[in-house]
Amino acid sequence: MTRATTDAPAAVDAGAPGTATAPMGAAAPERAAAPEPAAAPLADVDTVLLDLDGCLWFGEALAEGAAELVDALRASGRRVGFLTNTSNSRAVRVAAKLRRLGIAAETSDVVMPVEVLAEHPRLRDRPRVWFLGPEAVRQMIGELTPLAERPEDAELLLLARDTAMTYHDLADALHALLCCGAMLALNVDPRVPVEGGRMLPGTGAIAAALSYASGIEPEIVGKPSSGFFETALRRFGGTADRAVIVGDTLDSDIAGGAGAGLRTVLVGVPVPSTRRPEPVPDHRVADLAGVWALFGGERSEAVG
Ligand SMILES: [Mg+2]
Repeated sequence: MTRATTDAPAAVDAGAPGTATAPMGAAAPERAAAPEPAAAPLADVDTVLLDLDGCLWFGEALAEGAAELVDALRASGRRVGFLTNTSNSRAVRVAAKLRRLGIAAETSDVVMPVEVLAEHPRLRDRPRVWFLGPEAVRQMIGELTPLAERPEDAELLLLARDTAMTYHDLADALHALLCCGAMLALNVDPRVPVEGGRMLPGTGAIAAALSYASGIEPEIVGKPSSGFFETALRRFGGTADRAVIVGDTLDSDIAGGAGAGLRTVLVGVPVPSTRRPEPVPDHRVADLAGVWALFGGERSEAVG
């Protein structure tokens, strides 16, 4: 597997280093004292979409400065939304996890593929779905559209990340796909970063196995589809020209955000891109303190 460590350090945004290592709540005299500092590149942004896995948290551990960043953005009057490709849970659980880790969040603050599925064109005619994914999500799918009782009855294969998946489940999904000819994946993220630098195979890894076996490519509900970003902006009342996506994945956060007309910030060590040419973010920062620096003021100014 490709290592991404060569991508990050040299490319850190020019505006960030002065404050990237300083606590967000602290003064940063070196910036304050600088003669005629350049305007902060994201000063006019009013809607901030934050990725979760690999950006705001790693598994059960909050990223350093995550709670402070959200507090500072909200105190400055900006809308903050959590835009995650998580496919094995529901928004109510994701919001509860945010609160458990120390970030105030309502269920409506979280936009994720399964929650916008009802608006997807593929679901419009309520096709019979063969679902490969966790039970927690299956129940909701069944409320949106009929679930096929046999793989050969499927009109659409729908895919989420199922950590209890067996070879038998994969075989049934392939059979459904070969019968119906259409696969919709909640996301195609190659992997999911968790604690200690470990990676888990993502929904995209399961989709790739089925694509390889069938020759059929998936359609995507979540990032990087433009519709997902547009749905999120409608939810939060923002417009693309004054919105930014902050995330760690070039192919979903950066490519998707740029495709929908948002500004883009890549944070930390990126998940390597499979695209050629690689998506290019508007800004790269080393950590979440660097994100706040792109908005200009120190936290004390925002609060005041
Ligand atoms: Mg991520």
